[in-house]
Amino acid sequence: MTPLLHADGTLNLDAVRSHLMTELRSVLRRQDKIDAHLQNEDREMPSDWSEMAQLVENDEVLEALEESGRERVGALRMALQRVEQGSYAVCSACEGEIRPGRLAAMPTATLCIDCA
Ligand SMILES: [Zn+2]
Repeated sequence: MTPLLHADGTLNLDAVRSHLMTELRSVLRRQDKIDAHLQNEDREMPSDWSEMAQLVENDEVLEALEESGRERVGALRMALQRVEQGSYAVCSACEGEIRPGRLAAMPTATLCIDCA
């Protein structure tokens, strides 16, 4: 993977954009799989109560995964939008600079270290 920082320590926005898009695609693919699994209504219902409990528990795990995936998708889309608008490295609270090293470590950060 291309480093998100140039050799001089500034952000490589092209690399940031492709990193965000790659992650967005992989999260969306996972979401599709989770949705397909959750919506698969013709799967067999076990007659045994402990198997049934296991099934419900699995669904809860999947739903929690789906929820965190949805949040991740939102954060990635927001970051991409900020790249396009030229506000990617601008703190959304104090409008100061979010340092390149922070963005390289956490590419969806919207707050500078002081506001976070
Ligand atoms: Zn700030």
